[in-house]
Order: sequence, then structure tokens, then C-alpha cells
Amino acid sequence: MTLPERAEVIVVGGGIVGLAAALALAEAGAAPLLLEARSFGGAVTGGSLAAIGTHMHGLEEYAVMDEACALWRDLAARTGNPFEYNPQGQIGFLLDADGVEAGERWVADERALGADCRLVTPAELAEIEPNLTGPILGATFAPDTATVNPFLAARTVLSLARAAGASARDHAPVADLLVEAGRVAGVRMENGTEIRAEHVVLASGPWTQDVSARVGIDLPLVPRQAQCLATLRQRPGTIRRIVSAVESGGGVDSGYTQIQQAGSGQILFNTVVGLIETPEGARDRINEVPSGFVLTSIDTLSLLFPSLAGVPLLRSWVRFEAVSPDARFLAGRLPRDGLWICAGDNGSGYCRALMLGRFLAGEITGQPALAPALRAEARALYDPDRFGRAA
Ligand SMILES: Cc1cc2nc3c(=O)[nH]c(=O)nc-3n(C[C@H](O)[C@H](O)[C@H](O)COP(=O)(O)OP(=O)(O)OC[C@H]3O[C@@H](n4cnc5c(N)ncnc54)[C@H](O)[C@@H]3O)c2cc1C
Repeated sequence: MTLPERAEVIVVGGGIVGLAAALALAEAGAAPLLLEARSFGGAVTGGSLAAIGTHMHGLEEYAVMDEACALWRDLAARTGNPFEYNPQGQIGFLLDADGVEAGERWVADERALGADCRLVTPAELAEIEPNLTGPILGATFAPDTATVNPFLAARTVLSLARAAGASARDHAPVADLLVEAGRVAGVRMENGTEIRAEHVVLASGPWTQDVSARVGIDLPLVPRQAQCLATLRQRPGTIRRIVSAVESGGGVDSGYTQIQQAGSGQILFNTVVGLIETPEGARDRINEVPSGFVLTSIDTLSLLFPSLAGVPLLRSWVRFEAVSPDARFLAGRLPRDGLWICAGDNGSGYCRALMLGRFLAGEITGQPALAPALRAEARALYDPDRFGRAA
């Protein structure tokens, strides 16, 4: 592997966030070098359900999330959609009276911000999602929420970044940061090679903290286990929308549920039962899906879609997300000259990636690609120092 001696900007981590940062930097003329320890999109990015939408996210992030969604829609249109962008819509199911009340509030708040979403009755739901015949009292419906194929989208962003002037290397683990006169001046690779750069961006998902610790920066990020099951292929249209719930919206007794049918026909379900403790070192191993998750997921699927009771399972996977205390990214300048961060995906980094890449590229190059108001919002929302913990 030959690596350059110098780059203007180095991005550490080739998940969707690092790829999007590399694309935005290249488009801004900064000729970045992207270094990925393993394979591009091989960590949480490749295990994602990759829903792109604003529904049921924090209201304070609505404007930037709306921009994030528009960027994916525009990318699909601009490239001829090689990554299966599919605006299939999202249903938030409501199982009890409290849930319906919470759903009403949710919809009212989102609509006040300009979102296209509404409450639907069980009768309307039968039209929108005919196989969702479980004991549902109502649902929220956001018709614009889309999905992308996470592998193909990562590959597309990588190709576009390279075409725009980025260099990108996989199997290129960064071991350390170079510091000169108090400033981060590049990286040292595991094989000892040193690469100098004006700026280094840490976009290393749940490993970001390991790299920042090399220069004494403690980040408020912890890894959280996320898991998914997939069934054998089912008839197309078995599930037409993204079907989701959060506990506070009246879903099942779980933290978060998301079910959808992939382009391949497999039904994917991601049910998080509370916060799952991450065992020491687990992030670096391939992990088994806990049996409790399998049982809860099957129960949930059979409750909502009785016609799918007994459907054969094909595969399962566990990945690790980087979680911050307020469930928002850390994106911006770290308290070492030359060092930047874009990490803390909190389970919805696919949606945010293109927007964050543009935001960060604007901050680094001084050529903002986001409108001034959005840039100001992003600065306030994602300030890496907002917990006052980065030393
Ligand atoms: C089951 C599941 C469902 C999900 N559903 C959604 C969804 O519907 N919508 C949504 O928006 N998001 C969803 N997500 C979350 C989304 O996938 C993540 O937020 C996103 O992929 C995070 O990307 P990332 O680039 O930050 O992290 P990663 O993909 O983890 O990338 C970090 C990269 O850094 C590399 N790296 C680490 N250390 C080094 C080093 N020292 N040197 C070089 N490289 C290094 C790693 O190898 C890795 O490839 C889901 C996730 C899961 C698991």
C-alpha cells in the first residue's frame, strides 16, 4: 500500500459519515485523503436500515434534518439513483390510548415546523399498509420518509468523492495523531508511515474516542449495541412502508422498533429493548444477536403482521453506534488546532451524513455549503464542546 506523504485534509474512518465528509471536502476543492481501517462501509454503515426522514426525530433538529433528507433526494436524482432511494413513507404505529395521544402531539409539533405528516385511522391504515392487521388503534404517517440501500449508497458516495478529487484507502488503520508545536499535524499509520496534513477529521464512529484519546481529548461518546434480523425473501409489497414506533409514541414495550422490506424482499427488523449494555471490547468482535432480541422481534412482527407468524429467519447482525448524552452528533472543531470531529451518530447517522459532511467541509474550508441560518443552527446543535468535557 503506497500512501502519500502529505494531504490537505485527512478523514479517519470510511463509514457513511467519513465518506460524506470526503465528498463534501473534495467538492469544496480540498482534495482529502480518506483512511479506513477495514473496509468502506463495513461497520455500522453496512448494517443499517438507512431510513432517511425527519419523522420521530428531535424537533430541535428539524430544519437541518430536512436539509439532510433533501440532499439524499437530490443525490438520487442527480446520479440516476444507483442506491435504491425509495420514498416509501413511514408509519408510526399506536397501540393504546396514551400512544394515540402522544401521536397527536407528535404530529401537531412536526406539522407546526412544516413537516408533511398526519394521523391515520385503522381504516386508512388498511389502505396504506394492508398486512398491518395487528391490534393497532391508529398511526402516524409521514409519506416522504425514504430508505436507501446502505451498501450501494456508501459505494456511490465513495465513487463521487473519488471523482471529485478525494483519495481513499481501505485497510489503512490510523494508529496515532502527529502533534507539532501544539497542533495536530497529521497521522501515524499502524505500519509506522507518517502522513502530514493541515487538518485531520475524526469520523471513526464508536472508535473515535480511541483516536482522540491519543492527544488527551476525552469525548462523551459510548458505543451502543444495535441489532437486526432478516427473514427469507417475501413477496414484494408484503410490507410497503417503514413501520416504526418509539415507546413514548405508544409502540411495543421497547425503546425503538423499525421494520421494513428490503429491495431484496427480505424483511428487516430492528427492535431495541431498552439500552443494551456494551460488553468490554465487544465493539471489535463479531457478536451474536442475543436470544431475547430474537424472541422480542418475532413477537413484535407476529403481533403487527399476523400473516408473517412463523416466517423463516435468514440472518442477524450486531453493530455498534456511537452515542452522545443528548443523542446528537459532535461535529466541528476540537480543542486542538487542526483537529475536527464528526461522530456520535446515535442510531440515525445515515440520514444526517450528507448534511454533516457539507457542514464540516464548510467549517474547514471556509466555503460554507449550507445556507447561513442552517450553518448557524448546525454549529449550535453539534458543538463538540457543549458538554464541556473535551479536555
Ligand atoms: C440495525 C441498524 C439500523 C439503523 N437504521 C438507521 C436508519 O434507519 N437511519 C439512519 O439514519 N441510521 C440508521 N442506523 C445508524 C447508521 O447506520 C449509523 O448512524 C451510520 O452508519 C454511522 O456511520 P459512521 O460513518 O459514523 O460509522 P461507521 O460506519 O461505524 O464508520 C466508522 C469507520 O471508522 C473506521 N475506523 C475506526 N477507527 C479507525 C482508525 N483508527 N483508522 C481508520 N479507520 C478507523 C471503522 O473501521 C469504520 O468503518 C442504523 C444502524 C443499525 C445497526
